[in-house]
Order: sequence, then C-alpha cells, then structure tokens
Amino acid sequence: MVSWSEISWVEAEKRLKTCKTAIIPLGSVEQHGPHLPLGTDWIIAQELAKRISEKTETAVLPVLPFGYAEYHMDFPGTLTLTQDHLREVMLDVCRSVLKSGIKRILFVNGHGGNLASLRSVCLKLREEFGVLCAVAQWFDIFDEVEGWKATEHGGMIETCLMMGIRPDLVDLRKAIVPLPKPLSDQIRTISINRVKFRNGGIHLFLRTRDVTKEGSMTETEDSKPITDFSSATPEKGKEILNHFVEYLVDFCREFERTQLPS
Ligand SMILES: [Zn+2]
Repeated sequence: MVSWSEISWVEAEKRLKTCKTAIIPLGSVEQHGPHLPLGTDWIIAQELAKRISEKTETAVLPVLPFGYAEYHMDFPGTLTLTQDHLREVMLDVCRSVLKSGIKRILFVNGHGGNLASLRSVCLKLREEFGVLCAVAQWFDIFDEVEGWKATEHGGMIETCLMMGIRPDLVDLRKAIVPLPKPLSDQIRTISINRVKFRNGGIHLFLRTRDVTKEGSMTETEDSKPITDFSSATPEKGKEILNHFVEYLVDFCREFERTQLPS
C-alpha cells in the first residue's frame, strides 16, 4: 500500500512504480436524512479505499469530498460541483496519476450522483491513455446485504456503515427512512430518477425535496419505510464494512490481471 499524500516525491519516484492500480475515493457533502452527517458519502468511501489499499499493492489517493449533488440542494448544508466540473477535476487528477506509470484506476465512489461524470472520465482515459478504469459503489455491488436493500439513501446499510466508522456522528433517535411520495395516482416513485407507471418503468428526474421532506428515502422497488433502526449497531457496521472490503480486495487483484487488446 502506498498512501499518496504521505510520502515524499523521492519515495514516490520509487514506490509508485511498484503499484499497478491507483484507488481514488470520492463522495459528496449532502443531506442524508435527519440522523446522518453531511459527510456520510465521502467518509464511507475514504474508509473503504483505505482498507482496500492496506490489503493490496495499490496506491490510494486522498478523498475528493465534493460531488454532484445538485438535486439535494434544497436541504441546508449540501454542497455541489457541476457534473462538468467533477468530470474535469477527475480527469486532471487521473492524468497526473498516470504520469507515474500506473495502469489501472479504481474509483471507490460513495455517491451515485457522481456516476455519470465518472463514466465519461473512464471512457475518456481509455481513449486517451488506453488504461482501464473501474467504479465500485458499495450500494450497488449487491442488491441486498443482511436482508436489507443496499440502495436506500440514509437507510439501514448506510446507517450501519457510518456507525461502524464514526458512531459519534449518528443519531438514531432522529432516524426515519420513508417511501418517496408518489407523483400521481398511477405514477409511483421508486427513486428520484425512476418511476413506475402501471407495470413499466420510466426515467424521470426529480429533486429530492419533491418526494421526501426528511431527505432520506428508500430507493428500491417493493421496499418498505424504515422506522425501526434497533438492529443498526457499530458491530454490524464493521461486519458489513469487512464484507465490502474483502469483496473489493478480491476484485482489485482480478482487475490487475485483466488484459486489454492493444
Ligand atoms: Zn449516501
């Protein structure tokens, strides 16, 4: 493991040559319901990236805390970059990273709103440098973990993860994760990006405030509102964190074996 910010340039010259992959954590500063801190997404991403790098021969960059969160801006404290800026910042960082001879980039992304920019970054770097980039998002690695839906915004898994990392920042007494409000009698809201009309799905882009006053929400079809957080504990959070770390360590090793046509 090489921690990019903690070595000198002299060490960087030697040690970065030994790394095949750079891990870049990024997140968001945005509302996560009344019970979680604004930094939830980058705090989780940073922890995952650090833990993965400790078990692999990778170089880990400092986290980019800011992301694209425009649709959460009706909630106080949320910060956002534009999608274009996020893309450009990441491209600049990656172009610098690739000067070291590193050939693979793994983004550990804690915030789904960043994905569109990252996709564009990955494809651009592939075209420009021939390198392969991947994006790992803990909430869409598995549909369910411990029987809980992974995609809920401020839901059980995200709450557990935060409790496993920074229990002092979580206030379970304030936790409630409702269903998003429907748009009409026949249009059911699954998330702020997707609705169901009769049996079919439609993409439709809402602001978070359109569907929830709490900010947190379930974002999976057929989910139920969460009002009981009694099984969220720091121990459970650590267990889930380990589960993701083990999976991503294995992925990282396999990722380094991949070959692309020249
Ligand atoms: Zn989040």
